[in-house]
Amino acid sequence: MVKNLIRWLFFGLFLFLVLNGKMFLWLAIFGLSMVLSLFWGRIYCGYICPMNTVMIPAEKLSVKLGLQAKKVPKILKTNWLPWVVLFLMVAVTAFFKKTMSKDLPMLMALLILSVVVTLRYKQYVFHNHVCPFGVLQKWSGKNAKRSHRVDAASCIGCKICEKTCPTGAVLVEQDTGKAVIDIAYCLQCGNCTEVCPKKAIEPWA
Ligand code: SF4
Ligand code: SF4
Repeated sequence: MVKNLIRWLFFGLFLFLVLNGKMFLWLAIFGLSMVLSLFWGRIYCGYICPMNTVMIPAEKLSVKLGLQAKKVPKILKTNWLPWVVLFLMVAVTAFFKKTMSKDLPMLMALLILSVVVTLRYKQYVFHNHVCPFGVLQKWSGKNAKRSHRVDAASCIGCKICEKTCPTGAVLVEQDTGKAVIDIAYCLQCGNCTEVCPKKAIEPWA
């Protein structure tokens, strides 16, 4: 409840800034979150990002309507696509600015793309394989000093956390039978902490 409230408040701020032509202020928030990710991981992706906020209900709706595809196309499984999206966003923005002195609302276009992708594929596809902001956060937050972590001694390997993770960041290892979180992919959303029957996942430990 509180987490969703935070997300929608940031979503309102995002809309306000974009509609008032102050996209640079949103990019400043993103820049600050890159610094914070060194300590607390991808909190931007989990709580601030407008794409994440709309993808959560979009995926629920898609599941309800039976729109989710069983197979993900190869192009949506690569690691290079986010860099292509980033290049296109920068190039198109610069082109329109230079030739027509116009600021294109590229973040709104990305927002729409996130919903379209999530109406067909699970959230992890956009988070891990499409979003250019995600790939930057993955890079800056991969060694976060404080992140959600599993206490291996308490973990019973039930895999409940795996099923609730929106990005596939937590996996139970076959050899140890214990869950492990890949911090680079973790959105710090806390879904796994909430469902773990052994309270084995500590937030920002
Ligand atoms: S839900 Fe908890 S106990 Fe189960 S695998 Fe995940 S961390 Fe381990
Ligand atoms: S469910 Fe857990 S492992 Fe997955 S993104 Fe959220 S906090 Fe990270």
